[in-house]
Amino acid sequence: MKITDIDVRVTARRGTGGGVRDALQTLSGGGSVEVVVSTDEGVSGTGSVGFGRIAGASATLGALIENELKPVALDREVAHVRGIHQEMLREMEYHGAFGLAMFGIAAIDTALWDCLGRAHGEPCRHLWGAVHDRIPAYAMVGWLNYDDDEVRRICARAIEQGFRAVKIKVGFPTLREDTERIETVRKAIGEETVLMVDANQSLTTAEAIRRGRAYEQLGVYWWEEPIPADDVEGYAELAAALDIPVATGENLYTVRDFARFLKRDAVDIVQADLRRGGGPTALLQIGWMADVFGRPYASHGGGPVQLNVMACLPNSLYLETGLIEPGSPLKLEDGCAQLPQGPGFSWE
Ligand SMILES: [Mg+2]
Repeated sequence: MKITDIDVRVTARRGTGGGVRDALQTLSGGGSVEVVVSTDEGVSGTGSVGFGRIAGASATLGALIENELKPVALDREVAHVRGIHQEMLREMEYHGAFGLAMFGIAAIDTALWDCLGRAHGEPCRHLWGAVHDRIPAYAMVGWLNYDDDEVRRICARAIEQGFRAVKIKVGFPTLREDTERIETVRKAIGEETVLMVDANQSLTTAEAIRRGRAYEQLGVYWWEEPIPADDVEGYAELAAALDIPVATGENLYTVRDFARFLKRDAVDIVQADLRRGGGPTALLQIGWMADVFGRPYASHGGGPVQLNVMACLPNSLYLETGLIEPGSPLKLEDGCAQLPQGPGFSWE
């Protein structure tokens, strides 16, 4: 089954001035790029990557895929998806196999696996070999721009929907504000619900150790991205100093970044992002490597691709998602996300 065309569809969306806020940035929306791979057997596959901000990013990525990545994949066998992944990495090496280039590689890699799954009439996890038939899920409930009443309302909805774990943003200017937010949420969700916190790279190592010790006392389950994402030495220092597990990875690129952190004992919970990791091919590598190091895998972001990947990882810990909106195909049972049943990465 050969790749005959790759259609690149760009959606630009300029932020409206609103948007949720974490300790690093306001996420006002930035569009998406969808690639549709066509084959000589009539089967097609889709991969899509989105942007939380930067309105011009989708058009720039569209041009990068069209001019640089598409020529690597055209006329190749879809079944050589891992080989195509390696060649795309090599092709991007001159200007850097990270940043937007990885978003593009991820989109094509996702579309190729989706195509293979559809050709076989099976979810991708059946091609890879599954371990789990459902994945524990948590809801992101507390952005920094929410006031306490709003956070309480969202926590109540999360519990109603069946979540048994939630995450909030921290990284307010003071530890006291962070602690008050954690205590507000703890009251809203009860003692049994798992609570994680995320500072989105906003602190120094010394401050992250100080706040991490306070969060340990408050029974917080993990301490996510306390310091800048590429500071492997800082993360190693944090992980050694704190008992609370240090989680990071959503801003790391490719399996090599994760290897640096794992070899340095700089991460307790690995959180790979589909776009920055480099697509399902890379997420599987990252997840299996983390398992060898005895570290759990938690997704950054949810969706059917991460669910299919996590179904195949022995060390899967938690799927990240938001509240379940009306019409969403995501279903919870005992706090766990049910897996998509459709071929490739489709839900049905
Ligand atoms: Mg995060």
